Amino acid sequence: MAKDYYDKLGVSKDASKDEIKKAYRKKAKKYHPDKNPDNPDEAREKFKEISEAYEVLADEDKRQRYDRYGEAGVKDQFSHGDFTWQDFSHREDLEDIFSDFFGGRRSGGFEDIFSDFFGRRRSTSRARQRRGSDLRATMEVTLEEIHDGTEKTIKLNRKAPCDACGGSGSTSGGTKRCPECDGRGEVRQVQRRGIQQLITVTSCSKCGGTGEIVENPCDKCDGKGRVQKRETINIKVPPGAEDGSRLRVPGKGDAGPRGATPGDLYILIRVKPHEIFQRRGPHLFMDVPISMTQAALGDEIKVPTLKGNVKLNIPKGTQHGTNLRIGGKGLPTRHGTQGDQIVQVKVKIPEKLNQEQKELLKEFEEIEKKKEKGLFDRIKDKWYSD
Ligand SMILES: [Zn+2]
Ligand SMILES: [Zn+2]
Repeated sequence: MAKDYYDKLGVSKDASKDEIKKAYRKKAKKYHPDKNPDNPDEAREKFKEISEAYEVLADEDKRQRYDRYGEAGVKDQFSHGDFTWQDFSHREDLEDIFSDFFGGRRSGGFEDIFSDFFGRRRSTSRARQRRGSDLRATMEVTLEEIHDGTEKTIKLNRKAPCDACGGSGSTSGGTKRCPECDGRGEVRQVQRRGIQQLITVTSCSKCGGTGEIVENPCDKCDGKGRVQKRETINIKVPPGAEDGSRLRVPGKGDAGPRGATPGDLYILIRVKPHEIFQRRGPHLFMDVPISMTQAALGDEIKVPTLKGNVKLNIPKGTQHGTNLRIGGKGLPTRHGTQGDQIVQVKVKIPEKLNQEQKELLKEFEEIEKKKEKGLFDRIKDKWYSD
């Protein structure tokens, strides 16, 4: 299917350059992977798609070719026939958009896009080093725990702010501008090759790309402002949490170097299998064995729920495999409703009978036969008599 770049950015065919830029900004914010923690891959893909559209429509020449020949008109503009981040020529726009949007803070998702785009150089830049890394951990919970939601603790190793220096990395609390890079964190070298100018940018080795040098470095953390620690962290698990869902605990990833923004902690929720209940969405399923006579005559039985036992009415004539619903005894949903508990009836046929039972059942069978015969006769009369 042909790509409709105008449609991707949500602009009309006669949109101005400015409108296109605005539309791209809007979409770029929407599809930032950090804003879509539940489906970052999809967001990243969308992000790439709108960037491709922007790459074409923001360029007069490419836009004209696209308008005349469609996708085929711009295919040869891309290095591999298809758009990749290397083809994106609006780096400033992206930097502008995101520094604006995140108040200068560069987040992991953005860095990923950047490193896709700019290769390794970017990944060693100041931007990456200024924020602590995100951490991931897995937490197991039981159905009982998620029924009402729970608060649990998790132990993990993280880089925590150094308490000896308050995270600054310096005993005097001071830093000075790195003389090597003049506080920029990167060193530029310009080489001339004929008419070409080759600019290489590398991370400053003296300050490690931070642009600052610590005065009187703290002994405990070696001037880094953070130390490896085993910490206990409280996690609030919401009611009805789903298996495989992720919880974000802001600021509980690694501390940033020298007091910079910490990363976030992501908790993967694993719901342990339950010995009685099977979960399907907010509903809980269970099997309950009943006797042949209970099924035939009806009964009232006790069944367990996550919140203690309840009485359940077995209607007379209940068939094997019938589902009986106990309203509201499932799990809560995000929309404030409650799931049900569904009890599937398993009728047990007795394997051993004593003499008396055998006789009673035979008697029962005789009556059944008579009933059937009566039924058969009635049908016969009806069918053959006239
Ligand atoms: Zn430096
Ligand atoms: Zn310290």
